[in-house]
Amino acid sequence: MLQVSQLNLPVDHTDADLRAALLKRLGVKEANYTVKQRAIDARRGHVNFSYTLLVEVADEARVLKALKEDTKVILAPDETYVEVKVGQGGQGGQAAGGQGRPVIVGTGPCGLFAGLLLARAGLKPILLERGKAAGDRARDVTGFWRRGWDFNPESNVQYGEGGAGTFSDGKLYTQIRDREHRIPWLLKEMVAAGAPEDILIKARPHIGTDRLIKVVRHVREEIISLGGEVRFGSRVSDVVIENGVMRAVVLADGAVIEGSPVVFAIGHSSRDTFAMLHERGIPFDPKPFSVGVRIEHPQRLVDKMLFGKWAGHERLGSAPYKFVAHCDTERSAYSFCMCPGGLVVAATSEPGTVVTNGMSSYARAEANANAGFMVEVGPQDYGQAHPLAGIEFQRQIERRAYEAGGSNYHAPAQLLGDFLAGRASTSQGSVKPSYEPGVVWTDLREVLPESVIATLKEAVPRINKSLPGFDLEDAVLTGAETRSSAPVRIPRDPVSYECVSLKNFYPAGEGAGYAGGIISAAADGMRVAEAILRAR
Ligand code: FAD
Repeated sequence: MLQVSQLNLPVDHTDADLRAALLKRLGVKEANYTVKQRAIDARRGHVNFSYTLLVEVADEARVLKALKEDTKVILAPDETYVEVKVGQGGQGGQAAGGQGRPVIVGTGPCGLFAGLLLARAGLKPILLERGKAAGDRARDVTGFWRRGWDFNPESNVQYGEGGAGTFSDGKLYTQIRDREHRIPWLLKEMVAAGAPEDILIKARPHIGTDRLIKVVRHVREEIISLGGEVRFGSRVSDVVIENGVMRAVVLADGAVIEGSPVVFAIGHSSRDTFAMLHERGIPFDPKPFSVGVRIEHPQRLVDKMLFGKWAGHERLGSAPYKFVAHCDTERSAYSFCMCPGGLVVAATSEPGTVVTNGMSSYARAEANANAGFMVEVGPQDYGQAHPLAGIEFQRQIERRAYEAGGSNYHAPAQLLGDFLAGRASTSQGSVKPSYEPGVVWTDLREVLPESVIATLKEAVPRINKSLPGFDLEDAVLTGAETRSSAPVRIPRDPVSYECVSLKNFYPAGEGAGYAGGIISAAADGMRVAEAILRAR
């Protein structure tokens, strides 16, 4: 089988055009192919589809010889993910192992996919989740967005089945290295669990909140069908440690659950759990993360910026963008978690704080595009040397956002033109903010550190050079966007994945500092599960 990449065709090409381009490229009369990946290449005002194809031809060796200078025509690499079996030993075989049931704290992508692998290997894992099952959770979350007063600290955008990504754009791409081919495996599992098939071929696959909830439920049902358990409303509030080994977790209702081993896949927002683990002597290293605002433009404008005359073409869908601007402030501003045709959402998990993020449905059909407009901050900004200082830094910004928004979960917002001119906004312009329950027009200098404000301001004209129209005066900035990644990392052994100073304890996923995004968190869950299986 051959792999042919960078086969570029215009937006309105037909299947016959694609076949003809392939035959011409290979210099053959006949070939069978399947699409491995299709990317939209929208650079320098030109929009193309760029294909990677898997191709069967009659005389592979002759074609390869004839095209030996063409690095885009190669033998197709084997991208099979090799499942790890119990007791396989190998690199991860030094860990604690044990023979009891594994306990996994958290049912985000990390916990769920760790649970799926362990369940398929017959280990009957117990998954503990502080939030509710997806359906009940959705009612709490949408109720809070609509009404604004009934925030539930245990059932929100961060906590509950599926974790932080359940109410999201469901972007399923990542820049992590994937030598073991976990990502294609994950995407296939998601399709088997109800995700749209196009995620297998799109270069930037996305699934949307509506489809993601189905996938999450499906994975849970499989874990249970294999003898595992998924317990909602089960907040882990303490741990039992004996002689350098984590033996069990303690739930808020006092129940003690032994784990062999214990995986913590708690995400980046479980601040009370971080504090408890720190008190119990778990090591934490502070790490940088990013803060900023959500910026909203009309999606039609973004389509025009990226797709030019092809804007609105049904094959292209809503345009995504991505940018990074290096500034004289010696910081960079960059786009984070861009959601084409999406909504800005209230994403807090702590009372008295306002946090923004973005989500969309599979159709990406809302009027506005939004993205985090972020600046990296690090331990030098946190104002104290405590390992959890980054969390406190984050919390202070979120509290200021809550106060600036009127102390009722409305979010502070400003028009981009006013932000650049250094004056408070007093009313909406041509872009209607999508954040629910609502926004309060203000001056975001009340909320964000001066260094972040200065970097965002300097970045706008720089970004405008590559995305003309980005500096739209009526674009809406809503804050505060603070939950970009975990402000801490729990050090773990790079081979066994156990915590460096505590046996039987596996810190995993985004909260432990080893992932950022749905797919990378799920892949980290797989890595940890594989290490556990090798150690049995
Ligand atoms: P999480 O998903 O955060 O899951 C952790 C789980 O642990 C939670 O369910 C929590 O309730 C539970 N938990 C925490 N503490 C305890 C405890 N003490 N006891 C029991 N349970 C506990 N990423 C993308 O790749 N693409 C996107 O489009 C995207 N959009 C996003 C949109 C939004 C609104 C948000 C909030 C995030 C988005 N992300 C996106 C980021 C992505 O969701 C996270 O990177 C990912 O979910 C991290 O996975 P995780 O399993 O490590 O942690």
